[in-house]
Amino acid sequence: MNIARILYPVKVLGPGNRIGIWLSGCPRRCKGCSNPELWEWRSEFELSVSEVRKLIMKIAAASSVDGFTISGGEPMVQAEELAGLVDCLKTVSGDILIYTGYTYTSSRIWAIRRLCFLTACKAFITHVKTAILRLLPN
Ligand code: SF4
Repeated sequence: MNIARILYPVKVLGPGNRIGIWLSGCPRRCKGCSNPELWEWRSEFELSVSEVRKLIMKIAAASSVDGFTISGGEPMVQAEELAGLVDCLKTVSGDILIYTGYTYTSSRIWAIRRLCFLTACKAFITHVKTAILRLLPN
C-alpha cells in the first residue's frame, strides 16, 4: 500500500481517539482538495498490508483505540489492499471512516463493500463531492 502517514491519537476526524491513516495517490485532482501533497504515488511510502497491520497492532496494544479514519489521497485507488487492511482494523474497532472522492454508487466503493462484507451508510460533502462511508461493525 502507498501510505503517507499513520497518526495516533487523531481527535478531529471522527469520535474518540482514532488512528488516522493517510494513503498516497489520487488521480482525481479536485479543485479545492485539502491534501494535494498526497496526489502522487511515492515509492518511499510503499508498505505491505502486513507491515501496516503490525504498526496498527503495536499502537492498539499500547493505547485505547476508538476507531479509524482513512483518508488520502484517494483510498479507493487501493481498494483491494484496503479491503484486506480493513479486515484487520475491524479486529481492533468496527468504527471505521473512509473519506473518498468516489460517489456511493461507484464500482470502487461497491468493490470494497463486497470484499469486506461491510454495511455502509453515506453522507456527502458536496464541496468536493467527497463521500464519507461509515463502516459499521458486523
Ligand atoms: S478525491 Fe480527495 S484527495 Fe483526490 S483530489 Fe479530490 S479531494 Fe483531493
